[in-house]
Amino acid sequence: MKEAGVYHWQSESGAKKSSVDDMVLLTKITEAAITDNLKKRLMEDKIYTYIGPVLVAVNPFKQLPYFGDKEVEMYQGVPQYEVPPHIFSLADTMYRNMLIDSDSQCVIISGESGAGKTVSAKFIMNYITKVCGGGQKVQQVKDIIMESNPLLEAFGNAKTIRNNNSSRFGKYVEIQFSRGGEPLGGKVSNFLLEKSRVHFLNEHERSFHIFYQICAGTTPQQKEQLGITSPEYFEYLQQSGVYKVDGTNDAQEFQETLKAMQVMGMSQETQNNILKIVAAILHMGNISFSEENNAAIISDPGYLQFPAFLLEIDPQQLGHKLVSRIFDSKWGGKSERVDVTLNTEQAQFTRDAWTKGLYSRLFDYIVEAVNSAMVTDANLISTGILDIYGFEIFGRNGFEQFCINYVNEKLQQIFIELTLKSEQEEYHAEGIQWKPINYFDNKVVCELIEEKRPPGIMCILDDTCATMSAKSEGADEDFHRKMESQVGSHPHYQKFTGGFIIKHYAGKVSYHIDSFCEKNRDVLFTDIIEVMQRSQNTFIRGLFPDVINQASRGRPATAGSKIRTQANELVTTLMKCVPHYIRCIKPNETKRPKDWDEKMVKHQVEYLGLKENIRVKRAGFAYRRPFIKFLHRYGILTRETWPAWHGEQTQGIIHILSSVNMDSSQYQIGHTKVFVKDPESLYMLEECRERR
Ligand code: ATP
Ligand code: MG
Repeated sequence: MKEAGVYHWQSESGAKKSSVDDMVLLTKITEAAITDNLKKRLMEDKIYTYIGPVLVAVNPFKQLPYFGDKEVEMYQGVPQYEVPPHIFSLADTMYRNMLIDSDSQCVIISGESGAGKTVSAKFIMNYITKVCGGGQKVQQVKDIIMESNPLLEAFGNAKTIRNNNSSRFGKYVEIQFSRGGEPLGGKVSNFLLEKSRVHFLNEHERSFHIFYQICAGTTPQQKEQLGITSPEYFEYLQQSGVYKVDGTNDAQEFQETLKAMQVMGMSQETQNNILKIVAAILHMGNISFSEENNAAIISDPGYLQFPAFLLEIDPQQLGHKLVSRIFDSKWGGKSERVDVTLNTEQAQFTRDAWTKGLYSRLFDYIVEAVNSAMVTDANLISTGILDIYGFEIFGRNGFEQFCINYVNEKLQQIFIELTLKSEQEEYHAEGIQWKPINYFDNKVVCELIEEKRPPGIMCILDDTCATMSAKSEGADEDFHRKMESQVGSHPHYQKFTGGFIIKHYAGKVSYHIDSFCEKNRDVLFTDIIEVMQRSQNTFIRGLFPDVINQASRGRPATAGSKIRTQANELVTTLMKCVPHYIRCIKPNETKRPKDWDEKMVKHQVEYLGLKENIRVKRAGFAYRRPFIKFLHRYGILTRETWPAWHGEQTQGIIHILSSVNMDSSQYQIGHTKVFVKDPESLYMLEECRERR
């Protein structure tokens, strides 16, 4: 790990009151001082600040001029502390470390919605693809990597109240390189698509961009084929009444999406099939129900025609399966399949389960297509970029927030373990004496959620789902009761009527128990799968490869268990890499430049644990330098060491340090590096140097 900050304070020597570009140098480590430092910098259009090797990025909500080719040039191969803090510098460090050490690298980008994670991820991809090798084959890989962004954003991002281009899924993108540093392939893993957005929109929000793109960007001929009109016509889009996003041109972005599909090597036919599914989902949303004798009927069967046509399924089957379902029932030891009619509410639920199931399978297909476009079988080194949505605390939190916050809890665990671990390892390797520092290990919260024995919340939930009736009545209450008896006394758990509170590392979150079981079970009814498997369209059939047998009717994997597996796989992947961190901060809710919401920033500084991060860095040694570099920089302070020191390196260093009367408690000499404890001591060295 490199030290930072020297550059800036060289240029503003003595002016300790001005902002510091490495917050390890702050004279006071309080949340107020951190916030104040970030504010000062943002007002000067400096959005990046370090905490040692960790990059803190404040969203400027405007285009800044320092992301051009000139900067790409400027940061290439230059040590972090010799240039102003920049995301390119972090990207460069990643790339070079990977090449020099032949170690895979990863960057974990965290922060709340709208803080700038996706923009940061793109800057990194952009930088790396610019500085790594050329050649035609390589160019193709680069194109695929860059074009995967607009493609996945079209299908996975949406306008929310917090962010006009909010990622509604998490992703980990790995770029795989040859030992010589040329990108040869890549891999995208996706997490937790918020598929309920297909059928349910909050006020002021939109569904996934692609739905508006096909309304705005298709040709008249395509519109006719797909039955596409304006978004107002479609119930799914109409419910929030928001169709446009400031600064976004859906028609133009549609062209981008098509171009990206082409770059992925998707044939015209595949592209058409994808658009057909998107249109069919909108049309299905227009099917409505009324009730007759406690049973749902399709209000206007005419609305079945178009979606059935697009999906190439039988409209009658579609209609039938929307208002009835086969249940397995056991009578006197005999198993029997009965076709049961549904009420209106259940029919709507079935329709929405159908469309969101279809959409999430389409999304997985697209991710798969990106992957097969850049797959490589060589065993390579890689840089990975994790852009996953951050901690969420809403007025009302449900199963989705529970899963998202769990993943964030896991990431925080990596952050804590690795920042401390790497620090401690270096002291150990250098033979430096040091007292380990205390920190809150959130492992206990992870265990509360994911532990198998004794069972944590996810296990209890799975158990409840395994025994719940097909209609899931009373399951949530049952889950609530079970939790109380099994984790009720856990220090990070608390019960309230209708829900529970978890004391997360980032704060207390209360979850409403409502629909936890239904969402966790996450089954696409086998009836629906069977209809889709009978589609005349091969592409559509391909999205439903499910094998239906007695077992699949029994106990399919739950949403909770899938996310638990994914999160643990992610942790394993990340732990194999050298980690880098970007902590994104959102300065306001207004999305306006230079608007500073003090309370909001302070809260983020708190839960991102920036203060602890600085403390950890400071409890150790703020600065470390290889002997030769130290002598080179500070040799000028004494006659004996300038222009060169000819004796034992460590002797030269001790000579310099005692010439400025640095207390011996302030530094330690390791096996290859000198460590200086406080930034103040380093200021003193720097000041002496400048006086020369
Ligand atoms: P979510 O969790 O909702 O996906 P996010 O953290 O990925 O949020 P972004 O989409 O990266 O947030 O950023 C939100 C918006 O903020 C961007 O669309 C852009 O307008 C602005 N923004 C973020 N970072 C920058 C930046 N470095 N320069 C200019 N604008 C930025
Ligand atoms: Mg994002």
